[in-house]
Amino acid sequence: MDSVGVAAAAPDAGPGPAWQSKCPWGAPSTTSISCSLADVMSEQLAKELQLEEENAAFPEVVAAAEGPFITGENVDTSSDLMLAQMLQMEFDREYDAQLRREEKKINGDSKVSISFENYRKVHPYDSDSSEDEVDWQDTRHDPYRADKPTTTPRRGFIGKGKDITTKHDEVVCGRKNTARMENFAPEFQVGDGIGMDLKLSNQVFNALKQHAYSEERRSARLHEKKEHSTAEKAVDPKTRLLLYKMVNSGMLETITGCISTGKESVVFHAYGGNSPTEDKVIPPECAIKVFKTTLNEFKNRDKYMKDDYRFKDRFSKLNPRKIIRMWAEKEMHNLTRMQNAGIPCPQVVTLKKHVLVMSFIGQDQVPAPKLKDVTLSTEDMKKAYYQILNMMQQLYKECNLVHADLSEYNMLWHDGKVWLIDVSQSVEPTHPHGLEFLFRDCRNVSQFFQKGGVAEALNERELFNAVSGLNITADNEVDFQAEIEALEKMNEDHVQNHGKKLSTFSSDGDPPIFDE
Ligand code: ADP
Ligand code: MN
Repeated sequence: MDSVGVAAAAPDAGPGPAWQSKCPWGAPSTTSISCSLADVMSEQLAKELQLEEENAAFPEVVAAAEGPFITGENVDTSSDLMLAQMLQMEFDREYDAQLRREEKKINGDSKVSISFENYRKVHPYDSDSSEDEVDWQDTRHDPYRADKPTTTPRRGFIGKGKDITTKHDEVVCGRKNTARMENFAPEFQVGDGIGMDLKLSNQVFNALKQHAYSEERRSARLHEKKEHSTAEKAVDPKTRLLLYKMVNSGMLETITGCISTGKESVVFHAYGGNSPTEDKVIPPECAIKVFKTTLNEFKNRDKYMKDDYRFKDRFSKLNPRKIIRMWAEKEMHNLTRMQNAGIPCPQVVTLKKHVLVMSFIGQDQVPAPKLKDVTLSTEDMKKAYYQILNMMQQLYKECNLVHADLSEYNMLWHDGKVWLIDVSQSVEPTHPHGLEFLFRDCRNVSQFFQKGGVAEALNERELFNAVSGLNITADNEVDFQAEIEALEKMNEDHVQNHGKKLSTFSSDGDPPIFDE
């Protein structure tokens, strides 16, 4: 129910003529003011409604008044608790109805059923109302009538003269609120308020209730997080299970420990076991790359994946956990392409969800050092440079890939040569930012080798042209980058107009070759 007809409360819901003749709202106005629950909650509006309601009811109240107790003062304070209770009840009933639907859905036809009874919100004093399945406004039962008319009678007070006690009485109200705390979720510790004769003001009760609701939601979220996140150094239970299965199946002999914990992955060393299938040989030593399932770091990597047409269609439909798996999948595909081109890189062993097993670059549990961590002889440095130039060209031309995170951090020195790793973010050159990524890679490589004293090292622009086969002539970085972006834009326009990318960028800076 989206709206509450506040003024409609009296006529249909009244218990009958006997009640009407005595009640201050006995002859109600017929005008119905409808508004949303949220609006009614706003204090200002509630006040206005109260005034309107009272104005409408007042003349009738005077006319119907029989006893000496009905005075202007009484009427003045009578309707705001009622309004609050009405709204609360409406809110609680909506909540309970939703709860019932969920209960039904979960239990289905099952013989064993789970009860959500404890989570129901309906107040103790109306919990015996029989119209659970019926819209309460359509019944003849008066939902506002308190179950114990002696404590809060319809006319709003008990006693006589100066001993009068109204239903606004702090003590009565406070005790009632304390009792209502029992309706909070079971895990919400309310203590023995009743035993201590605790009296909660409406304000405190409502604040507590809000808190109880948000705690309920928060604990659900926390639970979720704990289940699915990869801890900083260790791995979450699901990942542990995946790793355990790999060892259990004999594919891995042992997992010895952690080699690296990066922002986006944790890498372990393992000794290889026996392949479950004959045609595959498990390397004696393996690296296990576990892609972190905490999503934060991956958000800023969207641009690599979203625009990669190979993954484009799938990307938009996936939840973040699946996207993480795609990074692992992407690394696997890219490594395979590189392997096929003969580029030194880890060999893929297997991929399970977000866990990629590959051959270990290094020996006896000691990983090969990164290029940034080794001191190479001048000769080796020069050798490494030419090897990398060659690999970048192969990667671009034969694998149709741009590394996109190429630097001395992602190149290992092993067996007298450079090995490329960390290719989950690699993209095809025609990726909307592919050439920019390539230029960045070239800058990293040029700077590293120029600083490292390799006199022959090309500058970043020359390297870019050498790798891509393009012939961008700009002699300064700004113009060079502008031309790169112009080329990318031309490609994007082509995609827009023809529904597909260029097969390749042209090799001489002239209009690119279209694949048609
Ligand atoms: P990240 O995205 O966290 O940088 P990397 O793929 O670069 O992930 O791996 C992190 C580190 O783990 C690397 O710098 C390297 O030291 C080590 N490593 C990764 N793969 C291997 C491998 N196949 N063999 C040996 N060491 C590896
Ligand atoms: Mn890395």
